[in-house]
Amino acid sequence: MIFEKLNIIPPILEALKREGYTQPTPIQEQAIPVILAKRDLVGLAQTGTGKTAAFAIPILQILQAEPKEVKGKHTIKALILTPTRELAIQIGESFTAYGRYLGLRNTVIFGGVSQGAQTDALKAGVDILIATPGRLLDLMNQKYINLRHIKLFVLDEADRMLDMGFSHDVKKIIAHLPEIRQTMLFSATMPPEISKLVGDILKNPIRVAVTPISSTVDAIEQTVYFVEKKDKKHLLVHLLKNKAVISALVFTRTKHGADKLTRDLIRAGVQAEAIHGNKSQTARQRALTKFKNKETRVLVATDIAARGIDIDELSHVINYDLPNVPETYVHRIGRTGRAGLGGEALSFCDQEEKAYLLDIQKLITKPIQVIEDHPYPLSEDSEIASQNIPPKAGPRKTGVIGYYRRGRQR
Ligand code: AMP
Repeated sequence: MIFEKLNIIPPILEALKREGYTQPTPIQEQAIPVILAKRDLVGLAQTGTGKTAAFAIPILQILQAEPKEVKGKHTIKALILTPTRELAIQIGESFTAYGRYLGLRNTVIFGGVSQGAQTDALKAGVDILIATPGRLLDLMNQKYINLRHIKLFVLDEADRMLDMGFSHDVKKIIAHLPEIRQTMLFSATMPPEISKLVGDILKNPIRVAVTPISSTVDAIEQTVYFVEKKDKKHLLVHLLKNKAVISALVFTRTKHGADKLTRDLIRAGVQAEAIHGNKSQTARQRALTKFKNKETRVLVATDIAARGIDIDELSHVINYDLPNVPETYVHRIGRTGRAGLGGEALSFCDQEEKAYLLDIQKLITKPIQVIEDHPYPLSEDSEIASQNIPPKAGPRKTGVIGYYRRGRQR
């Protein structure tokens, strides 16, 4: 399949070529024709599947065919609602990239920064608005934003949105949208609350689904190291001596844990930075940019801060702490192995986290390979390494971690 087959207009095809995209991903192949046919859509897809382009490309194409101005002014015709500032910024960058040869304007609004630059952009007129719920409501209340010209509405990461407590805000925003509109809802999982929302806000939607949450991306190699809690930082420093770890996103359970680990890494001579909700938006964005540019090798993050972080060619995801919600593991490791690239997901498991590991293995329905040969094994009496863990897949590994890549060139 090539993009040309999806009836995409030449200026967008040209922009995709510039991005280095040669083939649509499965979610793009399924969703683009549905959205271009102006149908409502439910997309069951997690980040890393190319879902942003799956909605951004057809939205740009539909809007390109519409008059941009009403009474000489650009009006907001598409609204993309997304849970985090990082995601909002990345979606904005995607619209800018795919729409670079069109005359459409997008702007991104989110909280945690002063509103001046955002309201200036709104006053100048925009066609596509990408927003997090809180700031959007705030600016709507201040009358900077009017949603009455919206024709296209995307609710992105709907499950996460509800997890983060935005349910009420989302409903308030939807109440301001015109009845006649095209709605697209994307979610990695489909819990009952989301199914209900789909019934409430979409009309005869077409469903498209890729990579169910339980089947982790095959391109990702998953391993686990049993280690005492106190030795985790030493094990991490040891593993980071391997040059094959080009860039690693390391997950800790708490913000405090992220800061502490970052300090330990810096002390050990590793370029590391932390990203979490207590940092200012500017600090988070700066950390992310440095990581993307490979100036920082290790980004230590909490789940909320890292949700949807889109980093090309991320070689390793390291679960320094295992998550107690197994789906979170799938979301975390989905940061690597993106769009055809291989990647590695390493997990540290201490005594107390053993139950979490079993839950994760149940969800992903395959064993995670145990690396026994490392300098900080659990002591004999903690004896968790061999208990209750499903059989190892393939030959025993030696603890050497390598980065492999496939496909895409940029
Ligand atoms: P997303 O799931 O939207 O977060 O996208 C994941 C990553 O895949 C992003 O870095 C995109 O730039 C990239 N991507 C999206 N579509 C394609 C494609 N058709 N070919 C190659 N890379 C893509």
